[in-house]
Amino acid sequence: MDKLIPKIGLEIHLELKTESKMFCSCPNDPDEVHPNLNICEICTGQPGILPTLNKRALEDAIKLAKALNCKINEFNYFARKNYFYPDLPKNYQISQYELPLAENGYLEFYLKEEYKKVRIRRVHLEEDTAKIIHENNYSLIDFNRAGIPLLEIVTEPDLKSAEEAKAFVEELILLIRYLGISDANPEKGEIRFEANVSVNFGEKLGTKVEIKNLGSIRSLRDSIAYEIKRQTELIEKGKEVIQETRGFDETKRITFSQRRKEMAEDYRYFPEPDLPPIILDQEFINTISLPELPFQKRKRLKDEYNLSFKEVNVLVENRELAEFFEETFSEIKAFDENFDIKILVNILINDLLGFLEKYQKKLSDLDFTPIQLANLLIKLKNQEINIRMVKDILEEVVRENKNVDLLLKESSLVSNEKLDELIERVISANEKAVEDYKKGKEGALQFLIGALMRETKGKINIQLAKELLIQALKKND
Ligand SMILES: [Zn+2]
Repeated sequence: MDKLIPKIGLEIHLELKTESKMFCSCPNDPDEVHPNLNICEICTGQPGILPTLNKRALEDAIKLAKALNCKINEFNYFARKNYFYPDLPKNYQISQYELPLAENGYLEFYLKEEYKKVRIRRVHLEEDTAKIIHENNYSLIDFNRAGIPLLEIVTEPDLKSAEEAKAFVEELILLIRYLGISDANPEKGEIRFEANVSVNFGEKLGTKVEIKNLGSIRSLRDSIAYEIKRQTELIEKGKEVIQETRGFDETKRITFSQRRKEMAEDYRYFPEPDLPPIILDQEFINTISLPELPFQKRKRLKDEYNLSFKEVNVLVENRELAEFFEETFSEIKAFDENFDIKILVNILINDLLGFLEKYQKKLSDLDFTPIQLANLLIKLKNQEINIRMVKDILEEVVRENKNVDLLLKESSLVSNEKLDELIERVISANEKAVEDYKKGKEGALQFLIGALMRETKGKINIQLAKELLIQALKKND
């Protein structure tokens, strides 16, 4: 008998970061805290108004559609989705139905190191609704959000687990941020999720349950995991899964029944009479260019620099850091063909990124340049400074935005003559440790190096100092 397999499809709503709203010139400002300020007769649905399409929203939507490898419908149009709800003053939402902007795409991503591909059924344009705030015994409505450009992205039911859904959504958000069309911040409601979950034997689709209003990636993942478990248990007991809409209880972390699924015809869709169809030509579509996308960048960084999967991912998720990495490496290579790239990668990922997180800074906040980092690392390789100093300098640079050249002047290594002198001093001041070393105690050497580090405030090449110290101890015999 076939195994029970979950199939998950997602519906994702994405607010675009345009200057103005979808069909009027009101500002699209997600940070506006004063309610009902960015409104006009169009986005509050007064009688007799005429909407006009925001060209930038259309271009952004095409950008995403291209990045999702979709077929763009050169002829597509808006439809009225009729329903009554207080957040919708027109009693309909302008959306797209039979002919969406784009269809039949896919997104490639990785779950851990495993390659995945999910088909995209459609990407369409619509407008956001107002926001309802429920208080104790009344509700408030804020129309600032009404009419903000919204994209709906619908996948095929290709996802097989809650973890896969999470990885897919994370890749989609990264892609959206690369395109610069939205910040896609779930906490601000800029991206919202719905999941269709069904469980059935083999490849057959089961009864579909829709989980609505998921505001975070964690809720998306947990609600899917719960729903898979619930449906699997029902089926194993021979019980029926009911087609319905369920909500997710954020506190109990369980899904609960809300209502039986309404059918599409309940919305009485019909073509929007106040807006002309969107007619695109290939020339216009071609003018909309894409940057290097995360999936491409991952592949290129891996091939070009021979980095590990984990290193590549850190760089792809930090685009600024990735650019810094590539520029620094090309600077270093101009001086030194054989420079070990791992040193640069470790410094960037473990140290620089760590300091940026510790001090809550961005690379672009600093005056630090790839040439300066290249210079530091060349000095490190030439043993003019040690790794400890590089790390200290980087921390200062991030914390205080200090000038690297000034820091370097203050932190050159002690000269070799000086080092010989200090070694003699350390040997004569630590007779006990010298005795122990001669008796073969390994720890004694470490103790003497520690003393030398304190004398020089760490400004030594440790390997060289260790060799000189051993030589001096032998002479001292
Ligand atoms: Zn308006």
